[in-house]
Amino acid sequence: MRPFAYARATTLGEAVEAAREPGTAVLAGGTELLNWLRLGIAAPDRVVDITRIAGLDRIEQLAGRGLRIGALVRLNDVAADEVVARDWPVLREAIHKSASAQIRNLATIGANPLQKTRCAYFRSDQPVRCNRRVPGSGCAAREGHDDRHALFGWTDECIAIQPSDPAVALAALDAHIVTRSVGGSRRIPVTDFHLLPSDGVDRDTVLEPGELIEAIELGDPAPHSAYVKVRERESYEYALVSAAATVQLDDDRRIERARLALGSVAMRPWRLTEAEHRISGLAPNDLAVTAALDAALAHARPVPGSAYKLAIARGAARRALMTAAGVGR
Ligand code: SF4
Repeated sequence: MRPFAYARATTLGEAVEAAREPGTAVLAGGTELLNWLRLGIAAPDRVVDITRIAGLDRIEQLAGRGLRIGALVRLNDVAADEVVARDWPVLREAIHKSASAQIRNLATIGANPLQKTRCAYFRSDQPVRCNRRVPGSGCAAREGHDDRHALFGWTDECIAIQPSDPAVALAALDAHIVTRSVGGSRRIPVTDFHLLPSDGVDRDTVLEPGELIEAIELGDPAPHSAYVKVRERESYEYALVSAAATVQLDDDRRIERARLALGSVAMRPWRLTEAEHRISGLAPNDLAVTAALDAALAHARPVPGSAYKLAIARGAARRALMTAAGVGR
């Protein structure tokens, strides 16, 4: 690990001023940054600690409807919040199924969507061909282990996936990420936040250098919502595939509106918008729902090792939808 300087910001203004300096990394919960430093994924000249900035650790009701969750709120504190549990249960479930209890006690909601891919080549502590680690070096996963890799949105340059659980729930909720930089503030839809390999592999998100996440904003409550995570073991494991669903039912208990997002299938949470439209007006357990999911997944382009994920994705999306609608399988 390279030596680096350490500084502490006490206001958001100080933090954005400090973050614009080239070679600066920002420390929040530290659960990812320490991995990056250890593996050489990041080698900053200076680390700016933002953990003491007042106000970023609050959950507040927004005027009208909605909730603003400060970027420094710990994952377990978001999940334990009574309003989140009542009105946005999909977010609580996604958090409960992410990482370990110890990590969730430290990791923050603002930094969670910034975690980098778990591709084993990318995380290797040995030199390896990885376009994300060494631009232009190639992609070892294309000829190697590709079973944890993408179904959608990949290129020959990179077939990796984004691993965040909460980001999938936030995508299904049409949440926004509020950012701050010296240039002002932005409100970015979570669905537009992550970049695909076709956008380049030199960065993972639309954040500009020096732009910090200030808060996550949730809109209308989604009390009928659920998160399903399929993984190789029940605790402390990244998803093979996950699915988040929100649903509104009409008086006949048919789907008035549904939102579906898949996780661990691309470098961003993947909304199934075509399926969302096709299932409007159906009963949640109608076989046509499965047909709509199949039609949406027909657009997938698995790499050789990831084709098995298609059946899992269909099952997870269906189960999330049925659970959100309160319908037994
Ligand atoms: Fe690197 Fe992406 Fe290839 Fe993994 S899939 S080795 S992250 S370029």
